[in-house]
Amino acid sequence: MSRVYNFSAGPSMLPESVLKKAASELTDYRGTGQSVMEMSHRSKAYKGIIENTEALVRELMAVPSNYKVLFLQGGASLQFAMVPMNLRKKGKAAYVDTGVWASKAAKEAKKWLEVDTIASSKDAGYSFIPEVKKVDGDYDYLHITLNNTIMGTKWEYLPETGSIPLVSDISSCVLSEPLDVSKFGLLYAGAQKNLAPAGVTLVIIREDLITDSPVENTPAMLRYDIHVENGSMYNTPPCYSIYMMGLVLEWIKENGGLPEVTRRNKEKAALLYDYLDASSCYHATAQKGSRSLMNVPFLTKETDPEKADAINKKFVAEAAEAGLVNLAGHRLVGGMRASIYNAMPVDGVKALIAFMDKFAAENLK
Ligand SMILES: *Cc1c(COP(=O)(O)O)cnc(C)c1O
Repeated sequence: MSRVYNFSAGPSMLPESVLKKAASELTDYRGTGQSVMEMSHRSKAYKGIIENTEALVRELMAVPSNYKVLFLQGGASLQFAMVPMNLRKKGKAAYVDTGVWASKAAKEAKKWLEVDTIASSKDAGYSFIPEVKKVDGDYDYLHITLNNTIMGTKWEYLPETGSIPLVSDISSCVLSEPLDVSKFGLLYAGAQKNLAPAGVTLVIIREDLITDSPVENTPAMLRYDIHVENGSMYNTPPCYSIYMMGLVLEWIKENGGLPEVTRRNKEKAALLYDYLDASSCYHATAQKGSRSLMNVPFLTKETDPEKADAINKKFVAEAAEAGLVNLAGHRLVGGMRASIYNAMPVDGVKALIAFMDKFAAENLK
């Protein structure tokens, strides 16, 4: 069986050459006679792997030297708790509610501090990013979700926060286009969208925000300071996922780096949005000016809910038969969604558009 184009929102496609490289090293990593899966995380070989991955993160994201890079576990979802537990000072933080993940982050934070939801696009079905140009006040930080995986929106600008640290969940847009790390106090990303298989969470934290946890009896595993002191090896790290992240980052570097990734992502997104905007059969749900490069939710023009549901199911099933898989929208929003992360080739998007055209001719005219 040949490989499919996988439009899953996560875990998602990995570059085929990365999978092949991993396969070639699977039983004997570079003459060590062991798989990376079997290796002590304290070994010299593994130390080389984790250091290489960190160096590539720093290089490709241009991480300034006053930031620490951590490889943690628990997914982006655990960061929803670690951020407030570790960054609490005065006891109040600002959140912007731009979707399901953003509201989950705020809900978790409320267990540790007071949360001000300073803006929301909930009433508009989260179809755009609200305007939050400037934030001041007695906040320990401002939290935003830079790319909203489910609704397919992204921040096109960053709010001015002065001395308030800006914290962002970048799970579904990390390394998809340039990001000025120096504008942030803390960034976090679950790896399974754009970086690696599931199991590792990338955290980039500015040094002045690393302090003893202000929350009494914080478990050691939930303290940034302890992970920093131990170089992400307080306990056994997710060794294989970190290795895979290194291979993915090498793939980016060998293929023109972030500028080329960005160019390709813009090309793919433009192909799809232009097609949707010109179509009389489909439309994109995210508003112009807030559209994600990575996740593109769309609907057919069918307005009767029952008929639309049947059409969507048919679309998703026939697409899968054509080798275009995981196109169902998130279970909370329905419709369709094409996630077109870094590893999705331009040809995958072209194949999707050709399928959409054929499906429309057969079902939507
Ligand atoms: C997928 C996703 C999450 C959840 O990530 P986990 O690693 O499964 O906890 C959180 N935020 C965003 C923006 C996501 O896309």
